[in-house]
Amino acid sequence: MTSSFSNLNLAEPIARAVAEMGYESMTPIQAQAIPVVLTGQDVMGAAQTGTGKTAAFALPLLQRMMKHENASTSPARHPVRALVLAPTRELADQVANNIKAYAKHTNLRVTCVFGGIDMKPQTLVLKGGVEVLIATPGRLLDHIEAKNCVLNQVEYVVLDEADRMLDIGFLPDLQRILSYLPKGNRQTLLFSATFSPEIKRLAGSYLQNPVTIEVARPNETASTVEQRFYAAQDDDKRRVIRKVLDDRGIKQAFIFVNSKLGCGRLARSLEREGLRTAALHGDKSQDERLKALEAFKKGEVDLLVCTDVAARGLDIKDVPAVFNFDVPFNAEDYVHRIGRTGRAGASGLAVTLVSPSDNRLVGDIEKLIKKKLEVETLQLDTRPAGPAPEKWGERAEDRPRSRAPEGRRREHDPRDALDAPQERRGGFRPAPVNRDPFFQKPYEAAATDTAPSWEPSGPQTVRSSISANIKPKRKVAALFKSGE
Ligand code: AMP
Repeated sequence: MTSSFSNLNLAEPIARAVAEMGYESMTPIQAQAIPVVLTGQDVMGAAQTGTGKTAAFALPLLQRMMKHENASTSPARHPVRALVLAPTRELADQVANNIKAYAKHTNLRVTCVFGGIDMKPQTLVLKGGVEVLIATPGRLLDHIEAKNCVLNQVEYVVLDEADRMLDIGFLPDLQRILSYLPKGNRQTLLFSATFSPEIKRLAGSYLQNPVTIEVARPNETASTVEQRFYAAQDDDKRRVIRKVLDDRGIKQAFIFVNSKLGCGRLARSLEREGLRTAALHGDKSQDERLKALEAFKKGEVDLLVCTDVAARGLDIKDVPAVFNFDVPFNAEDYVHRIGRTGRAGASGLAVTLVSPSDNRLVGDIEKLIKKKLEVETLQLDTRPAGPAPEKWGERAEDRPRSRAPEGRRREHDPRDALDAPQERRGGFRPAPVNRDPFFQKPYEAAATDTAPSWEPSGPQTVRSSISANIKPKRKVAALFKSGE
């Protein structure tokens, strides 16, 4: 196996695009998946966004499609040959932008369709003919039903974030979409954070003798992310955020909340306090969602207050910090949320604000990421907080595992991250995730993992740990690089 793209013998237009992207060597998932995909085999790949997964499937698929490349203006000469399905609009858009960049010197046409925006412009592009179609399931079905696209020549199917795509809420849509594809001779690639026995079983029915590519260990959080848990009553949470931002000199951050209502409310409060803030949640129009993201990327807003709609898949470089204003109800969402920072090898900070009633949820995170978590008390300038209550001294394994109270569960609607129309959505079952620091580095044949960073390095704190360890106060320099 080699880590250099040049050994893949990619067609010149694709190789040129890769070079223009500045990629020097393959990431682990690329080094393992690209040669296999080039041979035409089905793949079950364990990888999250941020690992170079998109290029891992897109480059070999584009290469395989080069035999069909043509400059004809006839739509019939540009049938859909590759279908990439993604669970969220933002992820679909991001994947499409990457694939467009990889295909830009070829005559292969790439487009993306997702819900929440006008169908007409999408229809025009679809009718003109496209070889690579990236879509969210709900909107794709709308286009299929409107006969705007025909999928009878699809040769390649990719299920991105397959754990979500095979989720019970999406499965009926997925099955319907697959029923429109030609039978036989199809190459199917499935990328998922983890492969639970259930996903393997389901996937087995869609794949033929798949090659399993797993370069991850389960449920790791990126070693480049410094994780902090601060005790905070609801009324103090905004002050804690401001203090961390000030102490660390952090300019931009994502702030995750559990409900759409809370998201809007917090964004308005921060705005009133003079912070440049935007809100991103499922009740916003797609146009507003994209605008909020764009404003954040351009540095026009400093704080993006969001629900889990923004937790998955988004690859925004240089997000120095993520705050969990609310501890997520599902520990898996914690891993996704903090994955928005510390990307591409940069250092990142993830701060979770913990109120006493969040005890169990912190325990769930502790179990998932297999790390002992310490809830610290940050000394606020005007009203010093005492050490965290005794309750935080409990060990995770001592706590009963029960579901979040129904009321809270309803308030939190993780499905607002999904694109399936309401009536198509079934029950929501969060998918297990993992994250491997190994992915964060360029691929090296004999690479070894770095130990997860869990060293104290935050602003002045009083530690009140789950294991009741009271450690001395200390001040350590901030960790940030300006990006990569
Ligand atoms: P993805 O996991 O596909 O969302 O990719 C995450 C980020 O890594 C994107 O910004 C890609 O442009 C970038 N990327 C993908 N492959 C490579 C590579 N081989 N070298 C450097 N960056 C890469």
